[in-house]
Amino acid sequence: MKYIDGFREPDAALFLRRRIEEHAEALAADGRTVRLMEVCGSHTMAVGRFGIREMLPPQVELISGPGCPVCVTGTGYVDAAIELAARDVTIATFGDMLRVPGSRSTLARARSEGARVEVCYSPEGALELARREPDRQVVFLAIGFETTVAPGVSLVRTAAREGLGNLSLLTAFKLVPPALEALIADPELSIDGFLCPAHVSAIIGAEAYRPVVERHGLPCVIASFEPLDILLGIDRLLELLVARRAELVNQYRRVVRPEGNRRAQELIAAWLEPVDADWRGLGSIPRSGLGLREEHASWDAARRFGITIGPGESNPHCRCGDVLRGKIRPPECALFGRSCVPARPIGACMVSAEGTCAAYYKYARTA
Ligand code: SF4
Repeated sequence: MKYIDGFREPDAALFLRRRIEEHAEALAADGRTVRLMEVCGSHTMAVGRFGIREMLPPQVELISGPGCPVCVTGTGYVDAAIELAARDVTIATFGDMLRVPGSRSTLARARSEGARVEVCYSPEGALELARREPDRQVVFLAIGFETTVAPGVSLVRTAAREGLGNLSLLTAFKLVPPALEALIADPELSIDGFLCPAHVSAIIGAEAYRPVVERHGLPCVIASFEPLDILLGIDRLLELLVARRAELVNQYRRVVRPEGNRRAQELIAAWLEPVDADWRGLGSIPRSGLGLREEHASWDAARRFGITIGPGESNPHCRCGDVLRGKIRPPECALFGRSCVPARPIGACMVSAEGTCAAYYKYARTA
């Protein structure tokens, strides 16, 4: 049965494909090729699933960026979580984190050796664990981009209201706009425009990308995850590039407002402040993360347990760093599909369904 709905209408897809080809012909006539980056892991997954990368003309390269939260979480953070798990502490985490490699082990292995590592499907799950065993410390692994920050903060806010002193956060929250700035500044990369994330933009607002557009002259288009949304986003980016115009386009106006979600922003600002953050593959980026404010430091697991999050060590043959920067495609890593597969991941990008290597493995192994 042919699947048709408002976001997957075949005629609309063909129309957009033709428009993209026309833009590509205009670029070719000008002797130009362009590199677009899809920043978000959900985009990467959808691009793979619907074969969008393969349908683009040769003048247009679509590369994946550092938009998978698990993938960009540093090895040192995983080491710190494993160290905590070895103490008499319950670790509460989203499932993907279990298999992300630390320097020498994973949380999954720590669990198999007897550590209490519990999988949660939302931060609320960590709250339940803390309520159920008030005499046992629970640490929630607070990772992710702007989308997941507010739920993480509301976790400790609720704990504070309930007087639960046995819950804390090991924070590694990340912010998208500083990462875009770091990618633009990378001398080894050349990016002509960004397909900006959907859910993150719903929180930070479309205007958050204005500095990228105005300071660096790069077009930014916010698009959602349905195939037509992505095609439309690529169409708009190419249209701007052909005309040599740097503009900010909010193609996801049904959800994203220019100013974003003010309530979420206020909640985040009341509890967290910008900090330098370590990104797998991108290194330390100034003010690209969020940490608990001094007045809320008692909820910080690193301080509560005297844990230091160090740089960690990655497998020297794993090229997740280059994949996350869009410098190479996963098949260019010598381990891809050989010793590194989703069932036995060597790098973080093969763990999560939103990881670029996992998406390539699943949808585009021959690309
Ligand atoms: S294929 Fe595996 S080892 Fe290679 S970059 Fe991807 S995750 Fe790392």
